[in-house]
Amino acid sequence: IFITIEGPDGSGKTTILQMLAENLEKEGYAVIATREPGGIEIAEQIRKVILDPENTAMDPRTEALLYAAARRQHLAEKVKPALNAGKVVLCDRFVDSSLAYQGYARGLGIDEVYSINEFAIENMMPAMTLYFDVAPEIGLERINKNKGREVNRLDMEKLEFHQKVREGYMIIGERFPDRISKIDASRELEAVYNQAEAKIKELLNS
Ligand code: ATP
Ligand code: C5P
Ligand code: MG
Repeated sequence: IFITIEGPDGSGKTTILQMLAENLEKEGYAVIATREPGGIEIAEQIRKVILDPENTAMDPRTEALLYAAARRQHLAEKVKPALNAGKVVLCDRFVDSSLAYQGYARGLGIDEVYSINEFAIENMMPAMTLYFDVAPEIGLERINKNKGREVNRLDMEKLEFHQKVREGYMIIGERFPDRISKIDASRELEAVYNQAEAKIKELLNS
């Protein structure tokens, strides 16, 4: 079963995804924890190109196409085989990130970005998406405290950009209400984790 975690920078996606994967494994589920852009060699290479702070000339459409290309390869090489083997695939970001960041915040248009992604994804959409909602002030403060974080081209974006990302996620959430569950990620880690786990358990037991 395919589950994705979405949300603005610093919403806690990576931290909680690791906790979920460990605990589900302990309970006997076969779990693959992976991420976008990346998760496999070719897509990690594309990630480097997209996020390289030196690549200031990157055109927004090029960026959107590279995300879609990395997504395709990750799906074909890792996600699809794991799903076929009956595993639980937990993925840190997926197409909704492209819709929120490139489609809405960068202004390419949610529908336009969705249409290039339909080509990349075919019909492999998540059964469930957890959207971690947090104000960018809080998310960015968490990130600034996290010294281990890699430098990336998005670091130069202002608060306003991150506010647009959050707005974009809200719009996408309204568009896909059956797939996307919103979780208040401004709370303490344990509260966010518990709600995320409860949602996943509900799906796995349904
Ligand atoms: P990015 O989109 O930039 O990858 P992320 O959503 O994956 O961000 P994390 O890397 O999981 O976010 O968390 C960012 C920082 O905030 C980490 O140092 C993490 O320990 C901390 N953190 C995560 N969740 C919470 C929380 N609910 N309360 C306080 N701190 C948190
Ligand atoms: O979540 P992760 O830390 O792996 O994302 C790396 C960077 O790429 C983040 O700054 C994120 O905002 C950005 N990103 C983006 N568009 C996407 C996916 C991620 O701008 N579609
Ligand atoms: Mg992360």
